[in-house]
Amino acid sequence: MKFCSLYSGSSGNSLFVSCRQTKLLIDAGMSGIKIQNAMKTIEEDPKSLKGILVTHEHRDHIHGIGVLSRRFDLPVYATQKTWEAMDECLGKISEGNRKTFDPGKDLVIEELQISPFKTSHDAAQSCGFVIDDGIKRIGIATDTGVVTDDMLLALKGCSLSVVESNHDLGMLEAGAYPFYLKQRIKSEYGHLSNEVAGNLVKTLVENGGQTIVLAHLSQENNFPLLAFETTSRILQESGIDPQKDIHLSVAKRSSVSEIIEL
Ligand SMILES: [Zn+2]
Ligand SMILES: [Zn+2]
Repeated sequence: MKFCSLYSGSSGNSLFVSCRQTKLLIDAGMSGIKIQNAMKTIEEDPKSLKGILVTHEHRDHIHGIGVLSRRFDLPVYATQKTWEAMDECLGKISEGNRKTFDPGKDLVIEELQISPFKTSHDAAQSCGFVIDDGIKRIGIATDTGVVTDDMLLALKGCSLSVVESNHDLGMLEAGAYPFYLKQRIKSEYGHLSNEVAGNLVKTLVENGGQTIVLAHLSQENNFPLLAFETTSRILQESGIDPQKDIHLSVAKRSSVSEIIEL
């Protein structure tokens, strides 16, 4: 399997996963043209995509979906409640490209089995995914205020996990965001802090996780190095060497990150 973060952060998210000819995007939260350009950078053709999986209806996850689906005739997979919440923002999506799934129920797209699990976020029905090619698994969990039991169980079996490391709590609290927004981000329906992400990563590595991508960093309340160092410190405190024992990286906000082959 191949994985690449095209864009990741509060300004837009889109992840690429492939297994031979089965190629998918998870979210398309940048403009269609930006996502096309990012795919060109990794020498992939949007025409070859088998679909776009949607985590939830926030704009930083759906902005380019309508354009890409119409331009390349791509199926869009979302829960019923997410469809209801995002439908108006997407423009017209052809009947044949409107696909639904239920959290907790697996779906198969050609060579990949997708297991959606619930996340805890202020959206209609937000989800993360485990994507399995029968040999390896990739777990994707961003936009969640807490680590749910479902999420932990899902991510524990993954070789590669994409984990939200949204904000540094100190920066958020001292920063310029209005009170209500700070409360929203910190709530159980908000986003994971660097500290919580680090502890989740520690548990995943202790359970066999080998490759970790920290993702969905806040532009205002985080720095890539701070996210990386917070998780590194928590790993080191438990005797795990983040440089040698695992592969730890931070997904980039506005450009393509490294391609990871599993
Ligand atoms: Zn988001
Ligand atoms: Zn969100």
